[in-house]
Amino acid sequence: MGHPVLIAAELEPLLQPDQLVGLDVTWLASAEPTPKGDFLALVPLLSRWVGGTELKRLPQLKVVANCAVGHDNVDVVAAEMRGIKVTNTPDVLTDATADLTWALILACARRVVEGAEVVKSGRWSGWHPELLLGIELRGRTLGLFGAGRIGQAVGRRATAFGMRILYTARNARPEFERATGAGKVERSQLFRESDVLSLHLPSRPETKGVIDGDALRQMKPTAILINTARGDLIREEALAIALEEGRLGAAGLDVYLDEPAIHPRLLAAPRTVLLPHIGSGTLEARRQMAAIAVANVQAVLKGEAPLTPVFG
Ligand code: NAP
Repeated sequence: MGHPVLIAAELEPLLQPDQLVGLDVTWLASAEPTPKGDFLALVPLLSRWVGGTELKRLPQLKVVANCAVGHDNVDVVAAEMRGIKVTNTPDVLTDATADLTWALILACARRVVEGAEVVKSGRWSGWHPELLLGIELRGRTLGLFGAGRIGQAVGRRATAFGMRILYTARNARPEFERATGAGKVERSQLFRESDVLSLHLPSRPETKGVIDGDALRQMKPTAILINTARGDLIREEALAIALEEGRLGAAGLDVYLDEPAIHPRLLAAPRTVLLPHIGSGTLEARRQMAAIAVANVQAVLKGEAPLTPVFG
C-alpha cells in the first residue's frame, strides 16, 4: 500500500504512472468538498479553498502541493501552524502566462475580437479606412505593476515592440532594468504614464483592489488595462463604469473576482477582451505544473525538503 494522498481528478490525464509510484491516490473532483481522512498530501487546483476547516478534517496532512504559482486559495498561516508544508509551481508557467498577456495586449490594441465578431456576424461591408482603428505600440509605455517572474517576462517581450517600460514593485530589479531599459516608479506615475498597464502582483490583503476608481481616474482615457494575475486586484464595477464612460481605452482580462462568475456590468461593458483564466493554459505548462506538484508531494513524504516551498 502506498501513501494515501488526495489529488485533483482533473490532473489525472496530465500525470504519468511513474510520477505516482508509492502513492495511493484518491482522485478528488473539483466539485466535491475536501473529504475527511488520514491523507498525507493534498494536490488541489486553485479553485479549491484550503483553510482551517479543511485542514482540521485531514489530521495527518504533511503537504498541500498547490497546482498553481498563486497560493491565495490556501490559508498558509493555518497550514504553517499545523506544521504542514505548502508548495506552488513557479517558473514552468511563466512563458505561457507572459505569452497570453501579450495575446491580450495585442487583442486590445488592434481590436482583434471586435474584428472577428464583425466578420463572423456577416456585418463586414468591406475595407474602410476607419474600420476598427487601434493603436500602435512602438514608442508607447508599458507599465508593469509587479515585476517578478511573469512581469519581467512580459517586459522582455516588450522590447521587440519598441515600448518604453516602467514598473512598480517593492524591490528594484537592476538586471531587468539593464536588459530592457525599464525604470522603477511609484504607482501614481505608473498609472498616469502607462499606455498599457499590466498587472503581475499576487493576491494578498494589501494588493486587493489596487485598481480602484481612484487608480482608474489617474489613467489615460486611451489606456489599456491587462490582468492575467488575480481578479481581486481590480474593483470590477469601477472598471465597468470607466469603460462605459469612455474613461479607459480597453481592458483585457483573464481572471475575475468571483470566477467563473463575471460581474454583469463588466460582462456588458464595451472594449473588453475576456478570457476564461487560461494564462498557464499550454500543454507543456500544465504537464509541468502537475509534475512539480506531485514531485513536491514525493519529496515531503520521503522526509526531504520540498522543491518549491511557498515560504523558505
Ligand atoms: P512572483 O515572481 O512572485 O512576482 C510577484 C511580483 O509582485 C513581484 O514583482 C513582487 O515584487 C510583487 N509583489 C509581491 N507582493 C507584493 C505586495 N504585497 N505589494 C506589491 N507588490 C508585491 O510571481 P509570478 O510568478 O510573476 O506570478 C504573479 C502572479 O500571477 C501570481 O501570484 C498568480 O496569482 C498570477 N498567475 C496567474 C496565471 C493565470 O493563469 N492567469 C498564471 C500564473 C500566475 P516585490 O516583492 O519586489 O514587490
